Amino acid sequence: MSKAVQVGKLRVIVIGAGIVGAATAFELSSQGADVLVLDAGLPRATDASFGWINASYFENPEYHALRAEGIAAYHRLQKRLDVPVKWTGGLCWEHSDDAFTAQFEALKAQGYPCEILDQAAIAELEPALGLLPERAIRFAAEGVAEPTLIAQRFLAAAIAHGAKVARGFRVQGFAERAGRICGVKTEQGFFKADHIVVAAGTGTQALLKTLDIALPVLDRPALVLTSTPVEWRLNHVLATDFGEVRQLPNGALMTPAAIGHQGDQTTDLGAYPEAAAQRSMSRLHALFPDAGLELATMQMAYRPVPKDGFPAVGKVAPGLYAASMHSGITLGALMGELIGQEVLHGVSNETERWLASYRPSRFS
Ligand SMILES: Cc1cc2nc3c(=O)[nH]c(=O)nc-3n(C[C@H](O)[C@H](O)[C@H](O)COP(=O)(O)OP(=O)(O)OC[C@H]3O[C@@H](n4cnc5c(N)ncnc54)[C@H](O)[C@@H]3O)c2cc1C
Repeated sequence: MSKAVQVGKLRVIVIGAGIVGAATAFELSSQGADVLVLDAGLPRATDASFGWINASYFENPEYHALRAEGIAAYHRLQKRLDVPVKWTGGLCWEHSDDAFTAQFEALKAQGYPCEILDQAAIAELEPALGLLPERAIRFAAEGVAEPTLIAQRFLAAAIAHGAKVARGFRVQGFAERAGRICGVKTEQGFFKADHIVVAAGTGTQALLKTLDIALPVLDRPALVLTSTPVEWRLNHVLATDFGEVRQLPNGALMTPAAIGHQGDQTTDLGAYPEAAAQRSMSRLHALFPDAGLELATMQMAYRPVPKDGFPAVGKVAPGLYAASMHSGITLGALMGELIGQEVLHGVSNETERWLASYRPSRFS
């Protein structure tokens, strides 16, 4: 999707070095822009993320298509950059009865690769499972990313293309000249640019508010657990009726404490995080009774979810662009491509095709 045209040295500041900012910096710098990434070093969603790349969680066909294109974008990316993405496939028995069938039929109707497996077939694919559902849907196109490493890879590649990364700089506001945003203000001073991209995750709302631009985000705390590392026993990423589970490269099993994490609407994790963690660990023990699993880490994070649940991506003022979304891992590679295109070359039919429904102006 990248245009081969090299733009002159347009100076672009990207605020935020999470996966969305890092992917954007990579695309911009690989097309010849002079990129400066400013990052405050705040706790961020990318480091806490479950890392599932999928289009099986979706609210409508259009959003499903965007997520499926997100998967396609990773395949394009893998031809350009060595990124830690594994196409494990997803195995899903989150729903039962009619809801199970409805999910399968809806995704099949979208042309998404999916098949129903019976218990014997599941056991063959995942022999270590101690609890076997009667049936599951296998989503062959899905995979997992190691989110922190991907963001690092994007930034390293951006630096190789001449980008600069400045850490410990918290952007406080914007500088304006003749009706155009022309720089950012940090505690340590001003930085000038021709274009500025705000990819500050949950921090995007506060930054845009300094200009009276609305990009409301929901309060979506999440708790993610990992176990002590165990020997390799899980091939797929699982969406079980217990919650999602995957095995990390170091052998640890990872699970969000909320069941149905992706659609989770919880605003309060309750007064006893350790009790929530223990409940999740009991579910993991039931799934892998022989693994000797122990809780190792609990990670709290806030998910950047725009108010209606969908991504918010686009120009918000002359010289200023914003991108905030959940499922930023699934969408990261695609958003890098699209944001890079729009900042350097403007809106096109191709970028409109994917982004028209997700402009931040819907909140104004
Ligand atoms: C627990 C959890 C599980 C998830 N699971 C999945 C999943 O399985 N699949 C999926 O696709 N998505 C998942 N997500 C969502 C995904 O992780 C996020 O959508 C994505 O990481 C957002 O990336 P980002 O770059 O926009 O924001 P972030 O990763 O939050 O990065 C924002 C960056 O901006 C910087 N910043 C903020 N304010 C300022 C400022 N004023 N000045 C300078 N810098 C600033 C911060 O320091 C930070 O580095 C999950 C999220 C969470 C929390």
